[in-house]
Amino acid sequence: MKAPVSDSAVDEFVARIRSGIPVGELFPGKMSECDFTVSQREKIRKARAEKKAALKNGKISFNSPHPQPNKSLPEPPTARALTKLKKILYLQGGACFFCGMPLNEEHASVEHLNPKSRGGASSEDNEVVCHKTLNHALGNMDLKRKFEFVLKSKGAFRCPGT
Ligand SMILES: [Zn+2]
Repeated sequence: MKAPVSDSAVDEFVARIRSGIPVGELFPGKMSECDFTVSQREKIRKARAEKKAALKNGKISFNSPHPQPNKSLPEPPTARALTKLKKILYLQGGACFFCGMPLNEEHASVEHLNPKSRGGASSEDNEVVCHKTLNHALGNMDLKRKFEFVLKSKGAFRCPGT
């Protein structure tokens, strides 16, 4: 009969599992389940389960001198994407959405047609770029009043047949 496995050897074994160090030859010869006591088996089982869970969550890295980059992550963009303002202004042909006058970025701001304070979305179907001054004046005016105001101020809009 083999000598019982010492608790300290099991502790070392468990510590190596946890830190990702190769387990190596800690025990004399080939071991089987019945060479360990119930509590030793439980310790090892727990350490293996924790290690497996940690690896799955990507929380623990191996002590590799040259860690490999995670291939599943997307490459960082080489050029910064256009800001929202630049993009919308570009799509509006560089003109204010409301008055149609040429608009520089420094005088422009993103206006939410349906104000955010009234539940309007921060998505491009609710956003236009206009003069900052107008954006400020419109405030959180609701869409109906805003529409009315713009139509009345422009004056160029005519219904068909009138
Ligand atoms: Zn304008």
